[in-house]
Amino acid sequence: MVKEQTFIAIKPESVQRQLIGELITRFERRGLKLVAAKLIAPTEELIGKHYPNDDAWLIPTGTNALKGHEAWGNKIDLTPRELATQIREGLIEYYSGRPMLAMIWEGAHAVELGRKTVGTTNPLTADLGSIRGDYSQESYSVADKLGRSMQTLVHASGSVEEAKCEIELWFKKEEILDYDLVISQIMHGTDWGKVKR
Ligand code: ADP
Repeated sequence: MVKEQTFIAIKPESVQRQLIGELITRFERRGLKLVAAKLIAPTEELIGKHYPNDDAWLIPTGTNALKGHEAWGNKIDLTPRELATQIREGLIEYYSGRPMLAMIWEGAHAVELGRKTVGTTNPLTADLGSIRGDYSQESYSVADKLGRSMQTLVHASGSVEEAKCEIELWFKKEEILDYDLVISQIMHGTDWGKVKR
């Protein structure tokens, strides 16, 4: 069985909207296995580490956000690093002290499926059927007009490497459970369900 793991967090706006059960169902229906979960009100320090103040996070995030703003005709006179630095400050302010559900989900292609289930960053253009595409009126312009971080409902690791770092940051080893799901026989086994002769 492939044991890829991804870090998924149900963000504070979804906790407040009482969507936890519904959103967890999306990952369960994929057949992914929940191996760790905790409700946590993170400190500024933890969020600051989750969204690190380095170019590896700032440049792609800022570039992506600038493209999103441009596509909707919002003129932003900032470099990707400057915009991402502002976004990061907003994220630290927004997430610290507010309950969110941190989780680890495991399965084949867990990272890729996690992203696909959550949808692209801008909820306005995220595909229908994805969480961000189905549960939100949010967009770059809404976040910009309200002068706050864009509410994207759920976080999902962007790569296997990122997932490893995030899992290490949010969870202790002993909080992660190693167990089998009965349905894994169907998902990843071959000897099941034939009519007995
Ligand atoms: P994702 O959450 O899809 O991995 P990013 O890593 O690019 O996206 O951004 C992290 C989070 O920063 C987003 O989920 C969103 O909450 C916030 N964010 C991104 N771009 C903007 C923006 N232009 N304005 C406000 N908040 C933003």
